[in-house]
Amino acid sequence: MEKQSFRRRAGEKLFSHISRDEWNDWRWQLRHRIRTLDHLREMFELPESDREAFQELIETYHMSVTPYYLSLMNRFDVTDPFRLQCVPDLRELQASSRCVDDPLQEERTMPVPDLIHRYPDRCLAMVTSACALYCRHCNRKRRWRNPEKFVSRDGLLRMARYIESRETIREVIISGGDPLMMNLNRLEWFLETIRAIDHVEILRIGTRMPVVLPMKITGDLCALLKKYRPLWIVTQFNHPGEITTEAARACEMLLEHGLPVCNQSVLLRGINDSHAVMKDLLYGLQRISVKPYYLFHCEPVRGTEHFHVDVETGRRIMDDFWGNISGLCIPRYVYDLPGGGGKVPLEACPSKKGL
Ligand SMILES: *Cc1c(COP(=O)(O)O)cnc(C)c1O
Ligand code: SF4
Repeated sequence: MEKQSFRRRAGEKLFSHISRDEWNDWRWQLRHRIRTLDHLREMFELPESDREAFQELIETYHMSVTPYYLSLMNRFDVTDPFRLQCVPDLRELQASSRCVDDPLQEERTMPVPDLIHRYPDRCLAMVTSACALYCRHCNRKRRWRNPEKFVSRDGLLRMARYIESRETIREVIISGGDPLMMNLNRLEWFLETIRAIDHVEILRIGTRMPVVLPMKITGDLCALLKKYRPLWIVTQFNHPGEITTEAARACEMLLEHGLPVCNQSVLLRGINDSHAVMKDLLYGLQRISVKPYYLFHCEPVRGTEHFHVDVETGRRIMDDFWGNISGLCIPRYVYDLPGGGGKVPLEACPSKKGL
């Protein structure tokens, strides 16, 4: 707690000339994101000798850091867990024989463009490729090679028609990118269209807004989403320091509008690959009524290898929680099988041997 409030003070100093109203306005936050090499170099004092390499890096993979997220970090510490998640790192360009662009072969399981249908009862619609902040560990970073895109109305209609034609689909996951980057009228129209399909019972939105731009979760947005319940929100907190007052308020607003909030973390080297940090994260999530749902083992995605943790370490961190901390805090530690085989649990239940 101490540490966190220190961080906030450090951040507020950097933005001390900004009025509270501006700071709390998501439009102001989006307008003032770090998106250019010059801005990045200014904020992080990158060495001149790396200029060309960084140019290549940000031409290969998008970059965006919100002022809010910047305010959480110690900018000049290259091991800072918030800095690691969003500041481009030259290791992203390192060649690797193990990593590929699309290990899950998502691009091959799309019956219509940008809609992945891998499991019988649910499908996943990638409605945009844009995000408020680009996580360096993103497993869809292959899609960043193209300019930011929002699926057109026709594209969304094509998805809706497919969903309508498959009666086994009872849940639609709206993902991206970050769907809350969409124009809200367009988002509402899509929710309404999907909701009108008889066999669709559940909607789910995957968004990292509560973590990287919590001011985006406004009363108006919650009131809009509330109309399409049951609608579940899945977000991505990876570190206990991300659970700030603002993030907690964003989750609380969603919950107050009857929108359950779950969390999917990614197990990331140098960020949450220790028992102590993971425990703080899980306890912190429970404190704000967010259910830890999954902990993802990293996929062999090109450009993310420097974050990878081996399964043994992951198991050592997670297995020890069984029987020791509240079951409400424990996510399933899972791996999405390369080749598109689906998610499988990785945890070994300690007492399973005797059964
Ligand atoms: C992860 C995923 C889902 C959702 O799976 P749950 O286990 O229900 O969270 C659906 N479709 C695809 C393609 C996925 O990768
Ligand atoms: S918010 Fe999600 S889709 Fe966007 S960069 Fe982060 S992990 Fe990737």
